[in-house]
Amino acid sequence: MSLLVVGSVALDSIETPFGISERTIGGSGTYISLSASYFTSNVNVVAVVGNDFPEKGITTFHQHGVNTDGIQVKENEKSFFWHGKYHHDMNSRDTLVTELNVLGDFDPVIPESYQGCEYLMLGNLTPKVQQTVIERLKKRPKLIVMDTMNFWMEPQFIDDLKTTMKMVDVVSINDEEARQLSGEYSLVKAAKKILTMGPKYLIIKKGEHGAFLFHNDQIFFTPALPLEEVFDPTGAGDTFAGGFIGYLADIDDISFDNMKRAIVYGSAMASFCVGKFGTDGVVTLEGDALAGRVREFVDLVQFEIAMV
Ligand code: AMP
Repeated sequence: MSLLVVGSVALDSIETPFGISERTIGGSGTYISLSASYFTSNVNVVAVVGNDFPEKGITTFHQHGVNTDGIQVKENEKSFFWHGKYHHDMNSRDTLVTELNVLGDFDPVIPESYQGCEYLMLGNLTPKVQQTVIERLKKRPKLIVMDTMNFWMEPQFIDDLKTTMKMVDVVSINDEEARQLSGEYSLVKAAKKILTMGPKYLIIKKGEHGAFLFHNDQIFFTPALPLEEVFDPTGAGDTFAGGFIGYLADIDDISFDNMKRAIVYGSAMASFCVGKFGTDGVVTLEGDALAGRVREFVDLVQFEIAMV
């Protein structure tokens, strides 16, 4: 099934206790598309970059079969730039710089060939732009998943965010963001509240502690894979989202049971992402590595118990 991905295609500077990488290729749209490309060959991206975005970035998309017809290149403008610094435990980070640049007035254009897509993944981006993309699709996709972050929960954006949330099926956020959005500390209470704001499904990511899926009164949880080494968590959430929607688009089944499997595939993809710097972990995945990781997940959580 065809998948449309909208998100930031960016230049990132990343600092972790293991090193610094400056102005490397990143962005939510990048991680999502590359991750989804391991599941479906029909990935189409809509984004905007400045002419400082390296050709290598576009080549990487093409090497993964991602259609970039929907990436606008703005002459004499700068790409979205983000600079993040991780603390020692790698679970928390500070955003040191967010320069919207070309994202500031991004007017997403959907190429005619993208119309009719069955699956839509709205990566972390201005909520207004996410909304515009939905409005510009002639036919509503079968499933719309939206990722967002605390930056868009600030007073100047929150109304737009709430409007967009009413237009989607699945919202994907992390635990801190769920608490901020709902004003509830308990994630179960937070999820209940957020599910009244529009989406039918809610994913709450908890970094190295796994991810929840909420739907009506149903809850599913998977841990993250315990890894010996984590080099750079940047993009893990987006890589997770790409694996989640990529798997759904491949199997073309949006039942709760299949979404559980998609959560495991998303988590497996995220485990590759954090093992290397920047996009390196999702660019270099070989052969049956993914199947191996999914097997590790199954082994990790499967047990038998005699109920008396
Ligand atoms: P994650 O680690 O999954 O939260 O994603 C990190 C990626 O999100 C980086 O590659 C950034 O370029 C991108 N990013 C950070 N802040 C924003 C923002 N406000 N809007 C869009 N993309 C962002």
